[in-house]
Amino acid sequence: MNGIDTKLLVAMIANTAFRLAASADELSRIDAVAGDGDHGVNVSVAFADASARLAEARPAHPSDVFLIVGRSFSEGGGGSAGALFGAYFAALGKRLALAADPEVGSFAEGLEAGSLRVAGLGRVALGEKTMFDALEPASRAARDAVTAGGNFAVLVGAAAEAAARGAAATAGMVAKAGRARYAESGAVGTQDPGALSVSLMFAAWEEVVMKGTDQ
Ligand code: ADP
Ligand code: MG
Repeated sequence: MNGIDTKLLVAMIANTAFRLAASADELSRIDAVAGDGDHGVNVSVAFADASARLAEARPAHPSDVFLIVGRSFSEGGGGSAGALFGAYFAALGKRLALAADPEVGSFAEGLEAGSLRVAGLGRVALGEKTMFDALEPASRAARDAVTAGGNFAVLVGAAAEAAARGAAATAGMVAKAGRARYAESGAVGTQDPGALSVSLMFAAWEEVVMKGTDQ
């Protein structure tokens, strides 16, 4: 079996907490352009909480990792991002829970389930300048990587690249959802903070996965 390593997932979440803490000020700054300036705090606090809970819980199955992250967001994560990321990780965790030893296919399907859940809950489509503009290309790239026979490192690398491109593209979009839709400028010229968080998260995952495969 070539299942996904639960310990690697825990390390990926720890690195996400570390990276998002370092970017929290920047994320809040861009949220202040058209929103209320709390996004960096919302996501960095939730990932730090998730990482602490994981260190304590020592999960045995990949699904448990993301169910715990989801709980950190829905119980403690502030803002719309708390509810949306909470639903995203819960959907990913639920998909992984369906397999005794989940492999890359389950992970790609989980990312897709999470992304669709965000679109449904947030009532958004592509191009509305939200986190969905990074989540959707990431899950599509993950699915393509699996179809092409890629392993977990290839999947995560492809998702990270697609999320970064998706987040960058939000700078040119007019906000149509969330608080930012009320801003006169539509926040054109600034990346969507939620999309940037998604891109930083996948980059943090890639960093850990690449280290793992170097050994
Ligand atoms: P709040 O907007 O409540 O202050 P945050 O600042 O933490 O929450 O998160 C803002 C981010 O949440 C946005 O940048 C966007 O990516 C995402 N977001 C907000 N509303 C929606 C929505 N309806 N659908 C999808 N994503 C949304
Ligand atoms: Mg905000």
